[in-house]
Amino acid sequence: MRTQISLLLIACFCSLTCLAQNEFDKYFTTKSLRIDFALSGNTQFQAAAIQQLREEPVWGGPVKNRIDKFNYGGYYINIYDKSTNELIYSRGFNTLFEEWRTTEQAKTETQSWTNSISVPYPKTTVVVEITARDKADMQFHPLLKMDIDPASIFIDRGKLKENKVTQIQYEGNPNEKVDLVFIAEGYTADDQDKFVADAKKFTESLFQTPPYTTRRKDFNIWAVNLISEDKGTDISGKGIYKNTALNSGYYTFGVDRYLTTPDMKPIRDAVWNVPCDAIFLLVNTDTYGGGGMYNFYAMGTADNEKTQHVFVHEFGHSFAGLADEYFSSEVAYQDFYNLKYEPWEPNITTLVDFDSKWKDLLPANTPIPTPLDAAHKDKPGVFEGGGYISKGIYRPMDHCMMRDYAPFCPACSRAILRMIDFLSDREY
Ligand SMILES: [Zn+2]
Repeated sequence: MRTQISLLLIACFCSLTCLAQNEFDKYFTTKSLRIDFALSGNTQFQAAAIQQLREEPVWGGPVKNRIDKFNYGGYYINIYDKSTNELIYSRGFNTLFEEWRTTEQAKTETQSWTNSISVPYPKTTVVVEITARDKADMQFHPLLKMDIDPASIFIDRGKLKENKVTQIQYEGNPNEKVDLVFIAEGYTADDQDKFVADAKKFTESLFQTPPYTTRRKDFNIWAVNLISEDKGTDISGKGIYKNTALNSGYYTFGVDRYLTTPDMKPIRDAVWNVPCDAIFLLVNTDTYGGGGMYNFYAMGTADNEKTQHVFVHEFGHSFAGLADEYFSSEVAYQDFYNLKYEPWEPNITTLVDFDSKWKDLLPANTPIPTPLDAAHKDKPGVFEGGGYISKGIYRPMDHCMMRDYAPFCPACSRAILRMIDFLSDREY
């Protein structure tokens, strides 16, 4: 009898799994539709416009988890079946452009930035919608909506440069694994072996950091060699400019340690033939700095003494949507969070809707907010200060990787594990 029940359960499980796979096969192939688009605007407004569509040969993302229920990020891409209007794919993401919109410069200048997102390649005509979250109400509003016919001659199907790709770790089917791709930036032709060695070093630091320690087998790790003319990266505040593959630099928004690149196109060109759920740009310099935006990219330097921690911290932003928990360092943002609403990041709260955050992780009888006294300071709580400001935003532990490179707090750890489950195509 027990065997029969087990068999029945296994049969049910299989049919559910197969159903989800069939649903994917009904709408998509395991290739990618890459959508390059401009975001233009300033503090007051923004608009989106398509720049290029590409068919690319690999889809490494999940196939069962087609709909993104996290509600993370400043933007969402939604794909609807044209004939039924059913939502068949969605995914949230951040951009560097939205951060720029909160700077002083955006009050007086209008700019246009290139962004790029890849989705599974549709089988029939779909409606693609890009929405943006308005900080005034925290809701997503449509920016752009258009039909895409997958057979259109206006979709570029050309091959791009075949860079050397190294499998640092391969654990299985990319649809069921997190595919983390390191890309070389500021490595000259002579530095290419160093890049692969650096990517291996960073892979080890990731899996030595809880909670990643227990989930190594959920990751495939790739390294894409790109050759730069010059070593290093721009330090524009000191008049140093380098000719590098991804056009990166410090002094993003005028902050010396903030290392980013404004241009997504060469990044996406580098991963056109690689399964890719997460991108880390590894910069060949020993200067302190980095950056990371949710489901966009993370960036860090190869040879600084704090570099392993910076890598895990920045990857926390880009991979799991984690907010900065610090509140005393210089940043260029103004009114980054609207305190009237609950922020979307899983590791900070304005207490507007704390029930949706880490309340269930608090020890019994923890006061909310939590005083930073001897009885509470080393336990999960709700401590004031986080998200760049000292008042009105609260963090889950006094210290965390997202504040000062301490071990991840329980709220961050849970968010990371949930994202691993999502991208490994499991229940999340
Ligand atoms: Zn944390």
